Amino acid sequence: MKTDLFLLKYGELALKGLNKPVFEKKLLDNIKARLKKIGSFNVFAAQSTIYVEPQGEVDMEDTLKSLKKVFGIANICPAVRCAKTLDEIEKTAVECLSEEELEGKTFKVEAKREDKSFPLNSPQLAAEMGGRILSHYPRLKVDVHNPDILVQVEIRKDAYVYMKKIKGAGGMPIGTNGKATILLSGGIDSPVAGYMIAKRGVRLEAVHFHSHPYTSDRAKEKVIELAKIMTEYCGNMRVHVIPFTDIQLEIIDKCPKILLTVIMRRMMMRIAEMIAEKTRGQALITGESIGQVASQTMESLNATNSVVSMPVFRPLIGMDKEEIVKISKEIGTYETSILPFEDCCTIFVPKHPKTKPTIEELIEAEKLLPEFEKMLEAAVNNEEVIQVGN
Ligand code: ATP
Ligand code: MG
Repeated sequence: MKTDLFLLKYGELALKGLNKPVFEKKLLDNIKARLKKIGSFNVFAAQSTIYVEPQGEVDMEDTLKSLKKVFGIANICPAVRCAKTLDEIEKTAVECLSEEELEGKTFKVEAKREDKSFPLNSPQLAAEMGGRILSHYPRLKVDVHNPDILVQVEIRKDAYVYMKKIKGAGGMPIGTNGKATILLSGGIDSPVAGYMIAKRGVRLEAVHFHSHPYTSDRAKEKVIELAKIMTEYCGNMRVHVIPFTDIQLEIIDKCPKILLTVIMRRMMMRIAEMIAEKTRGQALITGESIGQVASQTMESLNATNSVVSMPVFRPLIGMDKEEIVKISKEIGTYETSILPFEDCCTIFVPKHPKTKPTIEELIEAEKLLPEFEKMLEAAVNNEEVIQVGN
């Protein structure tokens, strides 16, 4: 049976108190923005449900696909609309069920009466519909605890019948929890890290360090492509591409080789914080995970953390690579992340990086770069800003 509209349910938790109108408005705006490219919709909220009603012909599969990527939606119910009479509701429910394999199945009707002028209350309506459905399909059995098929009826502006509750992306609407700057490499981890923080309602701004000509334009395009995939969940974002070669060459020239990677990472953090300050970001995000590589030991993490004063969010910190890969496949970044283009961190890595650098020795090493702050400023001034999304 064809879907007339989608009813969207948000998690209860975020909806308590004064935040509700803000939350709801952002969610509506985000949904409208995402659906723009699919067609014309009437999108509005009433009684803790969002209605997504297509206006004219639209591809409902595409609509569902897009809705599944909007943070703040707990469940998506593809529903059929009918008049608010018992006979019409019965007819609609029976038609919906006619498309299901019913042999040996159990069912239950759940009803919700939002329109209190409807003559039956919720339990009465559920019982009435249960009886009527049984009279059409006598071989169905009722199971109120663990039914195979759950027929849901909601009495609102019209009556709505649905049998599927599809899991949404969860989280909170983008834009309800500030903004953070993600250090976005071309790897597997950082897109996942960005996704996880964005899921909490945080808008993203991305920074990518590029080492032209040591890293190719294709490496840069790969990162832009990753950002583009991320925007389907995270909303539009800007990618600041920072020319990093001069800084790297200076470090290689002047500093002890075994400290190269960590000093490079400290420079990245400093620049990322400068970009965040410039763009009203309130925190930095990285894809680091304890012990994954030499630059992610506890000592190295402390050393990179200590050069910035903004909070640094590392949502993958306690995760295994396997768990990270699983999410990257789910969100669709994996295939792009594994494309074999060199990253600025990998081209200059020393053979035996120091795994336990002390902050004191790093400060000493950086004294060998008396002009580094100027270089960071020059890099920021020469950034290329790319708008990603629609
Ligand atoms: P990823 O898979 O995200 O590249 P990684 O396992 O390769 O991570 P590192 O190379 O140590 O780990 O990088 C750690 C983090 O530093 C990355 O997750 C990312 O947030 C940031 N980072 C590394 N290289 C870059 C870069 N070229 N541009 C922007 N951020 C970077
Ligand atoms: Mg990497």
